[in-house]
Amino acid sequence: MDRAIFEDLDVVIVGGGICGLATALALHRKGMKSIVMERSEALRATGGGIGIPANGWRALDELGVASKLRLNAILLEKVRDIFLNGSKRQEELTSFSNIGEVRCVKRSDLIEALAQDLPLGTIRFGCQILSVKLDTNSCFTILHLNNGNTIRAKVLIGCDGANSVVGDFLELKPKKLHSSCAVRGFTYFPNGHGFAHELVRARRDNTLFGMAPVTDNLACWFVVHQWHLQDSKVFKDQEIIKQMTLESIKGFPSEKIQLVKNCDISTLTLTHLRYRAPWDILLGQFRRGTVTVAGDSMHVMAPFVGQGGSSGIEDAVVLARCMTRKSIQANNDPKEFKGQKLIEEAMDEYVKERRMRLVKLSTQAYLIGSLLDTSSSLLKLIFFVLLGAFFRDQFGHARYNCGHL
Ligand SMILES: Cc1cc2nc3c(=O)[nH]c(=O)nc-3n(C[C@H](O)[C@H](O)[C@H](O)COP(=O)(O)OP(=O)(O)OC[C@H]3O[C@@H](n4cnc5c(N)ncnc54)[C@H](O)[C@@H]3O)c2cc1C
Repeated sequence: MDRAIFEDLDVVIVGGGICGLATALALHRKGMKSIVMERSEALRATGGGIGIPANGWRALDELGVASKLRLNAILLEKVRDIFLNGSKRQEELTSFSNIGEVRCVKRSDLIEALAQDLPLGTIRFGCQILSVKLDTNSCFTILHLNNGNTIRAKVLIGCDGANSVVGDFLELKPKKLHSSCAVRGFTYFPNGHGFAHELVRARRDNTLFGMAPVTDNLACWFVVHQWHLQDSKVFKDQEIIKQMTLESIKGFPSEKIQLVKNCDISTLTLTHLRYRAPWDILLGQFRRGTVTVAGDSMHVMAPFVGQGGSSGIEDAVVLARCMTRKSIQANNDPKEFKGQKLIEEAMDEYVKERRMRLVKLSTQAYLIGSLLDTSSSLLKLIFFVLLGAFFRDQFGHARYNCGHL
């Protein structure tokens, strides 16, 4: 039998999703080594398309991966909102020209681009962190892994998504569930789709359909609908997911239905939408000792503002900047993390800088999600008024600039 290993590491990132890889890359660009512990056996380069607005592109530019991603992602010029009410149809067209760059990329392209620029050996696959404990001797953390090994980490960054063990260590409030689920998929067009370079969002009652071209031969789409799914097996059965999706968009324009009918069924995913409440983000304790969180583990939100991934990339840029700034201020070699206090101060600066940005994003996503969740006309009116009052500029979030690395 293999003997269990005990290892001392400087910077450990839990989770090799978008945020974990972006954080490792941001630290690497600043000359800092980190190790990413990912429970999957390989890169999780799956999961449909991901919309990236201008703020996300700015952060990706800082990481040095934006140019190659742009090659396979059409520049979207407008958003077309379609409101369907019985046989009535109303349309609104908004130009992205004063918002900046908006594109949809294949999630696999994004994950691979981030991973490719990391030094060999940065990502350790098949490593699931089972628990995080404080090491009373050193004030750092002890991580127990599924393979029986133990790690003592000087710095621990939880990028382990919505069900975060690092979030549990920080005693974050449990995330909440919307009553809606989302299905995402890709449809391939070997001879080209000919779609306008637009993001299309069509809404009827509590159902939302969205689509955008990724390349000339590929379109990604999603459907958000109130499915009451008792049977968890449904989440894995792509044929059932397809049929349920077609059922939910009956009466939508025929080209939307065709998109789902002709989809690549292997790309379909069904997700129950979850969120960390905006007030929990406002008040949450996102640092304990030398441990913090980023990405969905800090601020999972429903995808209605399309910022979950991009805000995680912003977290990565800001965290790496705060860490190096502190090291340099203390005349340390920026490649090293010396002193628990210094690390804590850097993490506090990071949390402070991110908090209000994340409260705003999550509030906007929460209000739109609540609008879709409720069937009460009064509540709908209240959510409409709040959205109008606080988020009149619905794409204002895309103008945000997280700054240089
Ligand atoms: C339907 C839908 C549509 C969306 N559309 C958009 C969009 O258009 N634009 C956008 O920006 N965002 C969008 N999002 C949100 C976006 O997908 C997420 O915000 C983003 O993927 C979060 O990345 P992450 O790295 O923080 O977490 P995750 O992607 O969840 O990655 C977490 C990683 O940690 C690993 N992990 C978990 N626990 C452990 C453990 N204990 N030990 C080791 N590894 C572990 C997991 O295997 C995983 O690889 C959408 C989300 C949904 C559900």
